[in-house]
Amino acid sequence: METRKVLLFMGPQGSGKGTQAQLFARRHGYRILSTGDILRKEAMKGTELATQISNTMNEGGLISDELIFKVLRNHINELPKTENLILDGFPRTEKQAVQLDSVIDVTCTIYILLSVEEAVQRISGRVQCPEGHTYNTISAPPTEKDICDVDGLTLSQRKDDNEDAVRHRLAIHEKEIANVLGHYRTQQKLFTIHGDATIDEVSQEIEAKLAPYAN
Ligand code: AMP
Repeated sequence: METRKVLLFMGPQGSGKGTQAQLFARRHGYRILSTGDILRKEAMKGTELATQISNTMNEGGLISDELIFKVLRNHINELPKTENLILDGFPRTEKQAVQLDSVIDVTCTIYILLSVEEAVQRISGRVQCPEGHTYNTISAPPTEKDICDVDGLTLSQRKDDNEDAVRHRLAIHEKEIANVLGHYRTQQKLFTIHGDATIDEVSQEIEAKLAPYAN
């Protein structure tokens, strides 16, 4: 019987799921596994597989369910079984949700809603450091321009944060997400939250919903 808590933070690109995952994790001692961050590191390795991953990501497409699950499972298996986890960016398809159930007990899921136009606008201002700490040059800038507040690393825009790739990612998201949400609704593990408020307001709402899982 698993004792750790596993929370999923889901939402369209730009909904703030990564930022909210970081806030909750810092406050309550969870480890974050972000499949986007894991893949960005994987893509820098200089292998043929790395090139394939990098091409798919830059176009805004999805990595195959088999590959991403294998990569994620390896990361999960390396962690102590008692460590509380937040998954950011996984699952993105119903198949991934089913695959996840075979390796881990999901405690609860949060879905952050955001309109396509708001998402496109937000992402165009997004910058992040190589460790995945994210800022928005308009709504949540770093203290010093282009420098990460947390680790001092240089901030840059992701290659897949251009408008074409963003719209492509959002279209895929729209197509896949209903079945993923259905999966967790059936299990009575789904909370939905509106993402078009300030970071603090969304965070407060998440804290209220996830209060039973705060340490
Ligand atoms: P993110 O940082 O969550 O926006 O993810 C960036 C990119 O990584 C996505 O656009 C996909 O190309 C890839 N990716 C991340 N998570 C997954 C996943 N669960 N399944 C397939 N591809 C993923």
